[in-house]
Amino acid sequence: QPLLGATEIRRLAEEIGVRPTKTLGQNFVIDGNTIRRIVAAAKIDPTETVLEVGPGLGSLTLGLLDAAAKVVAVEIDPVLAAKLPSTVAAFRPALAGNLDVVLSDAMRITELPAEPTALVANLPYNVAVPVVLHLLEHFPSLQHGLVMVQDEVADRMVAGPGSKTYGVPSVKGAWYSQMRKAGVIGMNVFWPAPKISSGLVEFTRREPPVTHASREQVFAVIDAAFAQRRKTLRAALAGWAGGAVEAERFLRMAGVDPSARGEVIDVNAFARIAEAKNPLLV
Ligand code: SAM
Repeated sequence: QPLLGATEIRRLAEEIGVRPTKTLGQNFVIDGNTIRRIVAAAKIDPTETVLEVGPGLGSLTLGLLDAAAKVVAVEIDPVLAAKLPSTVAAFRPALAGNLDVVLSDAMRITELPAEPTALVANLPYNVAVPVVLHLLEHFPSLQHGLVMVQDEVADRMVAGPGSKTYGVPSVKGAWYSQMRKAGVIGMNVFWPAPKISSGLVEFTRREPPVTHASREQVFAVIDAAFAQRRKTLRAALAGWAGGAVEAERFLRMAGVDPSARGEVIDVNAFARIAEAKNPLLV
């Protein structure tokens, strides 16, 4: 099945007068082989409903329609969202009925016309991490996925404790899923070409850590720990705990060394620290 190349993408953009904007992270894939690679890496079962964020001019959407039973595409740009059904009707007439286009901000959306089991997207780079976390939180039906993000963001998402790139995206991502890097994509497969390489991140949902603390409470500890990542946890969590003495006590209750830094502890330890502040619930 033909996919969209540079000529088709430029023609489609011209037809609707689209000039790609940086603010919306609009870099369109103009290379069929890259689309085939993303779709293969996403390991989509033919019975699945796939959620795509930011379908743009439809490069990835066509590949996803070939692989899945249904695609729900959430696009924030009204001109792109309005064009997508006719592009799909032109290039995949038999599959046009399998597409739902939703005009919405993926960072705020809380309802979809179907229950997707997979998320596959070439994400707008400036909001990639908040979009993934928002969707994993609000759509428990999502079991796995593959997203393309800025390569250095990919490294941060998949990092484990002790690694230089371990931080808020890694720990919050680990709350919901196991994340793994699935490849690097060069700049010249996009129009316009970005200035940096992209990375593929594959994820599989996992159960969050067992804890009496709420997700919000755990995330507050993570934010506090990494707001001052050079500091020891005793110092970094003083504000959150109500003082350094309290912080030290909660850390010891959680079995975490108060002189350690946030970058060496895993999501389960963050959950234990949050729980220690609320002993009545334990
Ligand atoms: N999927 C297309 C491709 O691979 O060629 C386009 C990818 S482009 C990197 C990102 C797309 O996300 C753009 O179409 C942009 O308009 C859209 N977008 C940006 N912010 C968004 C948001 N908050 N919610 C939904 N879509 C968004």
